[in-house]
Amino acid sequence: MNTTFIAMGIALLAGVGLVVTIGVVSLLSGGLHFLFARPKLSILKTANGESGFAFSFKWNSSREPAKFDNIRIRLFNPFGSPTQVDLTRSYDTATSTFARDLDFGEDLKNLMNAEGIANASVEVEVMSSKEGIAHHFMFKGQKFLDLYKSATVLAETFNEENALNYPKPVFTNPKRSFIADALPVSNKALKISSNPEFAGEFAGAGGSGEAAKENFAVSKVWIEDGCIVCDACEAIFPEVFEVTDDTCIIRPGAPLDNGLLVEEAADACPVEVIKFAKA
Ligand code: SF4
Repeated sequence: MNTTFIAMGIALLAGVGLVVTIGVVSLLSGGLHFLFARPKLSILKTANGESGFAFSFKWNSSREPAKFDNIRIRLFNPFGSPTQVDLTRSYDTATSTFARDLDFGEDLKNLMNAEGIANASVEVEVMSSKEGIAHHFMFKGQKFLDLYKSATVLAETFNEENALNYPKPVFTNPKRSFIADALPVSNKALKISSNPEFAGEFAGAGGSGEAAKENFAVSKVWIEDGCIVCDACEAIFPEVFEVTDDTCIIRPGAPLDNGLLVEEAADACPVEVIKFAKA
């Protein structure tokens, strides 16, 4: 009996201990995140004169994979004039730590020179229009002015040092892929049952009975827009067609002496984007 009570007591204590440990770990993790992993906005030196506003924004992009593309600056100036200013600008999307230098025009000058700004509040909001996320940063008016005027790091320098978020180069898939130069016409013939040249070799194999077609060379083969990457062409003539993740291309140096097989691939293409020209 006593042993049972002791065992139950130990189990109870272990359970309570586990709950307390989980609670403490969770609090510590939350505290560490609050202290060190909060999104951070820094005001940088602008290269756009009095109408420019430069800033950097750091956040845990693996934890919050947002695409930030807007910034809003708001002045709350209840005892001065104007009492409110609300400015919004968009910029090229950033998916991890980034800096931008934006031109706000005359409106920013009006905000900076608002009567009573020193005692006002300035809110900066970094927003993701797609995900509907916004991070807010409040400044006392005087603090905002001081940070703006004393900033020394340019947005460009920040981006260089962090090697992040330059506007991404745009890669476009070529609409058509050509084989540039026509190869000399070959006198090689396709060894198939419909080719009369080899009719004798296939005579005993029971042909399809279709009229024999003479093979021909092509001068070029190309793919027009609209490939649905079904792989049919590559399965028929892999030496010429290569199906990639999102389209089909003509292999460099592809043989051009087998027009029948090219034609077969073109006929098999469900969206009829394979084109060729006879030599
Ligand atoms: S057969 Fe046509 S649609 Fe299919 S992969 Fe080839 S080119 Fe694309």
